[in-house]
Amino acid sequence: MSKPPLTLYLAAPRGFCAGVDRAIKIVEMALQKWGAPVYVRHEIVHNKFVVDGLRDKGAIFVEELDDCPPDRPVIFSAHGVPKAVPAEAARRQMVFVDATCPLVSKVHIEAERHHSNGLQMVMIGHEGHPETLGTMGQLPPGEVLLVETPADVAGLQVRDAGKLAFITQTTLSVDDTAAIVAALQARFPAIVGPHKEDICYATTNRQEAVKAMAPKADAMLVIGAPNSSNSRRLVEVGAAAGCSYSQLVQRATDIDWRALDGIASIGITAGASAPEVLVNEVVDAIRARYDVTVELVETATENVEFKVPRVLREPA
Ligand code: SF4
Repeated sequence: MSKPPLTLYLAAPRGFCAGVDRAIKIVEMALQKWGAPVYVRHEIVHNKFVVDGLRDKGAIFVEELDDCPPDRPVIFSAHGVPKAVPAEAARRQMVFVDATCPLVSKVHIEAERHHSNGLQMVMIGHEGHPETLGTMGQLPPGEVLLVETPADVAGLQVRDAGKLAFITQTTLSVDDTAAIVAALQARFPAIVGPHKEDICYATTNRQEAVKAMAPKADAMLVIGAPNSSNSRRLVEVGAAAGCSYSQLVQRATDIDWRALDGIASIGITAGASAPEVLVNEVVDAIRARYDVTVELVETATENVEFKVPRVLREPA
């Protein structure tokens, strides 16, 4: 039986960002340098496939420093950690490597700078996400107020409306964040903020590619993990940009083929923590059922690269 024709739009850029690439390299280089096991506090990046692969090589994933023995190296995830965590690791004289993405560290530095200038911070982010916890944990309790929606802005109780600054999580929806920033500026005209927001280049570029692809795709599949903030935003951006079936899939086995019945085109992208091997797996699964014509939807090219910490570049 002949396969039905299907146009497969492939977003570019998609998948790994420079921060994720660096964090994975850090774990691999730590294993090479110190041997297994190396402990990693929290999933190094939000992707089960990546985490399982590193576990097979000898990484042990834990949630807290207390779960790590004092005599093995520990790595902090790309999302960043509250200041108290490296401070406690240093107090225990542990070997630790911080894999916080430099673009998250930049937000930490911004928060500290505003704090030392006497400003109270408002963070736009998702409650409970490790990046939000890490960024809020750069300053003493109460110094960072969290908002998730424009409606939250109305309920903010600030110390001094004339002494405020805002920062954002790096993986938010560009459009949703603009609405929250506008609400903040309307209520607190003196609020200080970054030039645009702190959403990183990788998040912005992946959302732009989805916006270009979604209106012409009958369905869109975002390859990523349910706990990956940037992947979930891509699903939402796809739906908001006009694709009525926009779904998150971790692997090809998650595809609901019945829902795709009768479609003529699919858009594919991947979150910043999803490896290309999973994109290929999904594309192969689609090829097995359809006569596929691939069309690249490229809205930007990326050449960002971050160095790993010096301790890993030095011999053991
Ligand atoms: S999504 Fe952006 S901030 Fe997060 S690790 Fe990647 S480059 Fe860094």
